[in-house]
Amino acid sequence: MTFTIKGIAASSGIAIAKAFRLENAELDVTKKSISNPESEVARFDEAIKVSNGELEVIRDHANAELGEDKAAIFSAHLLVLNDPELLNPVKDKIKSENVNAEFALNEVASMFVQMFESMDNEYMKERAADIRDVTKRVLAHLVGVTISTPASITEEVIIIAEDLTPSDTAQLNRKYALGFTTDIGGRTSHSAIMARSLEIPAVVGTKEVTAKIQNGTMVIVDGLDGEVIVDPTAEELATYRAKKDKFEQQKLEWAKLKNEPTVTKDGHHVELVANIGTPNDVEGVLNNGGEGVGLYRTEFLYMGRDNFPTEEEQFEAYKSVLENMGEKPVVVRTLDIGGDKELPYLHLPKEMNPFLGYRAIRLCLDQKEIFRTQLRALLRSSVYGNLKIMFPMIATLDEFRAAKAVLIEEKEKLVAENVQVSDNIEVGMMVEIPASAILADQFAKEVDFFSIGTNDLIQYTMAADRMNEQVSYLYQPYNPSILRLVKMVIDAANKEGKWAGMCGEMAGDSVAIPLLVGLGLHEFSMSATSILPARSQMAKLSKADMEKLAEKALSMSTAAEVVELVNSIS
Ligand code: PEP
Ligand code: MG
Repeated sequence: MTFTIKGIAASSGIAIAKAFRLENAELDVTKKSISNPESEVARFDEAIKVSNGELEVIRDHANAELGEDKAAIFSAHLLVLNDPELLNPVKDKIKSENVNAEFALNEVASMFVQMFESMDNEYMKERAADIRDVTKRVLAHLVGVTISTPASITEEVIIIAEDLTPSDTAQLNRKYALGFTTDIGGRTSHSAIMARSLEIPAVVGTKEVTAKIQNGTMVIVDGLDGEVIVDPTAEELATYRAKKDKFEQQKLEWAKLKNEPTVTKDGHHVELVANIGTPNDVEGVLNNGGEGVGLYRTEFLYMGRDNFPTEEEQFEAYKSVLENMGEKPVVVRTLDIGGDKELPYLHLPKEMNPFLGYRAIRLCLDQKEIFRTQLRALLRSSVYGNLKIMFPMIATLDEFRAAKAVLIEEKEKLVAENVQVSDNIEVGMMVEIPASAILADQFAKEVDFFSIGTNDLIQYTMAADRMNEQVSYLYQPYNPSILRLVKMVIDAANKEGKWAGMCGEMAGDSVAIPLLVGLGLHEFSMSATSILPARSQMAKLSKADMEKLAEKALSMSTAAEVVELVNSIS
């Protein structure tokens, strides 16, 4: 009988095929006493060695298929696999308790997994997933079972799994794995990110696909609306085939706009640029017709390692982005660490309210050596392209002035050392704290540009933690209070002849776009795959009409009324 399972739309598109369950093999880890601990340790070492070999192959494959940044996860896995902090306690346990290696490994790994999972931090939770993935591989060798991997699939299927580990996802072959759906995971989990870069439709976080779908059942994965249709009727199959065709058609239409400027039907021009996290993302920006980079989140350079990146390492990353973007603008945001993003090697004290705490520019202005190193790397890279620098989490003009002063000092030092630095670097700020939006008229006199960070601006305006699902209903980009703040920032920029962009999720939101066009936003920065749909949407809008629409929205009282208003125009 047909039924539908709801989940999170993780990667767009529609896939229709038979289900292939990626089973989690039963790995027997029961405690057994052993008589020869030395040979048990040797058996453990052998399993580690074989796993090392396998992971190296997977990493090289991922490197070739998915690019260096996606393959980096396997270098991280190799580090886990060879980490004495994991291996030594296992060996000690085998020797001191005379227990089998499977049991010892499972005990030690579970302790680390629990520790990382209990941290209120997405990044650390992903580390728990890494340990689980690596442990499963070693356990399979110890137990002597072959774990089913996507690499063994040779017909067109939809993969059904509790979760896809990074190594599973890296082995997906687009020819056969038409789509996948999982019980757990969110939009930012590894598997979701990889699905988007492979362009495989995916629905994650369904909680129940493995419980409800049998091998060989016909399944539709609707990565557009986050639904999985199990055992569809002929009628449903026809409907979804039509939806799939329409989506493919739409993609072709969007592709035609790749090298076109972004203009409304009455000739108003805006910039559509992309948010990136690593130099490898540049390819996606160019493939999707991005006119620049509106937000380069540099914190990824600092994450997933155990010490600070050197000036040289940073310089190489910035130079690579600038060179590959050519003349197109690249807005680099200085380090925004703290809040939900932690660096283990920074040893920050635990805070009651990390989102309101010691983070981003606050930390950089306090620990200036970290800041200076980044600014020097940026200044040195500036001659390789069109660099703009912005500071995150600016609350007061003093902070902006202080940050800019450090930048100028570093520039002067470099010039004195005869290092070439561009003279045309625009220096701007993120507007993500209500105080800076309200005082935008004053800031506008001193900055070269604004970039509105609505992810944080909304959380601070609504006093609702963006990581807390129970208050997620307060994430209201269309609330007139937010629209009024956005208008204040854009108007302030206009008055001083500066430009205002937006790099929060709201900029790529199809309901917000008509309003933002109406408010006169100059630059929209979004994930690369949203650029062409946004360009296509804007070409159908009239700026003059959107101005009237925005004016009406500003005088409304609730977000729901605003949504209704916007929907009434299409
Ligand atoms: C924002 O706050 O809107 C933003 C773009 O920054 P981040 O999501 O990195 O905090
Ligand atoms: Mg932010």
